[in-house]
Amino acid sequence: MFSSAAALAVPAPLSCPSDDAATDTAPSFLDGILWMAVPKSRRTIEVNRCRRRNPQKLLKEKKNIDVCPECGHLKLKHVLCGFCYAKVRHETHLIRKEIQAMEGGPFRAPVVESVVLYEGEKPRPDDDGKRIIEQKRKRPSWFSY
Ligand SMILES: [Zn+2]
Repeated sequence: MFSSAAALAVPAPLSCPSDDAATDTAPSFLDGILWMAVPKSRRTIEVNRCRRRNPQKLLKEKKNIDVCPECGHLKLKHVLCGFCYAKVRHETHLIRKEIQAMEGGPFRAPVVESVVLYEGEKPRPDDDGKRIIEQKRKRPSWFSY
């Protein structure tokens, strides 16, 4: 009465009864089973709290915070001040835009020293032969000549 194929068949999981009818092959033993690692016994709340509140796991207090001598913002001692860096970066971006407008690109720069002149400034005698980049703004207080 039983064919050899029916003797090897394993019942399909209950969640998908129509799966057996759709496929010809016999379902595997592992079908429909998700194998996961599970703890063998419950850990008490005291053990869990000891693990979570272990001093090694807590955030460390930072003792290397300093005040920036230029702007007064807080910064790490060994790191450049982010506020001052953003200021310098913005100024550099504006100077680069001016250079782009003057020379039409970064690859046509002359091989001489550059001088940035702001509003109301005139080139000094020792600026002869240098590349002069003029800005139509006032010189920032932190940007020395
Ligand atoms: Zn600063």
